[in-house]
Amino acid sequence: MAQEDYYKVLGVDRNASEKEINSAYRKLAKKYHPDLNHAPGAEEKYKQVNEAYEVLHDRKKRAQYDQFGQAGVNGQGGFGNAGAGQGAGYGDFGGFGDFGDIFNDFFNGGGQRQQANPTAPQRGQDLDYTLNIDFMDAINGKKTQVSYTRDETCPTCGGNGAEKGTHPVTCDKCHGTGYMTITQKSMLGVIRRQTTCDKCHGRGVIIEHPCKTCHGKGTVNKKNTIEVDIPAGIDNGQQLRYEGQGEAGKNGGPYGDLYISYRIKPSKDFERRGNTIYTTVPISFAQATLGDEINIKTVHGDSKLKIPAGTQPDKQFTLRGKGVPYLRGNGNGNQITTVKVQIPESINDKQKQALVDFVKAGGGSITPQEKGFFERLKDKLK
Ligand SMILES: [Zn+2]
Ligand SMILES: [Zn+2]
Repeated sequence: MAQEDYYKVLGVDRNASEKEINSAYRKLAKKYHPDLNHAPGAEEKYKQVNEAYEVLHDRKKRAQYDQFGQAGVNGQGGFGNAGAGQGAGYGDFGGFGDFGDIFNDFFNGGGQRQQANPTAPQRGQDLDYTLNIDFMDAINGKKTQVSYTRDETCPTCGGNGAEKGTHPVTCDKCHGTGYMTITQKSMLGVIRRQTTCDKCHGRGVIIEHPCKTCHGKGTVNKKNTIEVDIPAGIDNGQQLRYEGQGEAGKNGGPYGDLYISYRIKPSKDFERRGNTIYTTVPISFAQATLGDEINIKTVHGDSKLKIPAGTQPDKQFTLRGKGVPYLRGNGNGNQITTVKVQIPESINDKQKQALVDFVKAGGGSITPQEKGFFERLKDKLK
């Protein structure tokens, strides 16, 4: 079966934010859920929606999909769960906290999630970093350094929080589960509810002799400095992922990732939209009428632009290949330059005569209007 474009399946733009993707997914998942929609084709649609979401909500998979299409997200070991969600695999969504409410809608609480084992390895949190960069650095590319603080595995205890020579012990109150069940009798019967273990505070272990470096936490907050790439052509809001540069995991789990978001400072000379650069250039009405060759600024240095005779105000010229480099390295976008024809605010007597002659030469007549006293005074004070 031909693969539908994942963005089309969710009905979102290629630049859609995570929020837009989440919201599109929620709507469609509800619309086509087989428990709610028995129309023919709904189930197939539901599967497609889930498949598209599996890829697009995950920054890494989405980046791969954007770059390599279907090939980027098929057959790679790490994506074992893509395509899940046909009904059985709801547990796979465990990490996406705010989806709880959809599933609660469907299952009315019957599908209560299993408590995670607090002593199992957990991957560390991802971190976000906004990197402000100069306009031209985004065009030419650059390497730079980024410093931020993060929780790192405590070097003294190796992350278990216990002083050297001692070990955390399994909590005897919750038997390592981190939660306990409270039973209450009420008029309606016996109510059981689960609550965080008050002895180990949900950790499942008790640290009798806390590590002196991290005070039992297992992590220490430290400054981390990494070299970051500014790829030539990066645009506002795009992200790069730096694996393992996020926060330390728990119980021996891996570090999270760092996501660098680029924010580009505006330029006084250039306006950028995607890979196209927009500029304006002033020309005189004589240049517009007679034609000329002028120098204009581009992000790749000065360039010559031929103004043909008879150029009209606000005409746009396209300079091929003078725009922003494509991220994947196939050349540059274009520059579009709009000419702004300038009408002189004041001219000398000789110029005035030449213009009157110009009109007469074309067989017309003209009655030039003198400037008033105050305009002349203003001109003098300029
Ligand atoms: Zn420690
Ligand atoms: Zn406990």
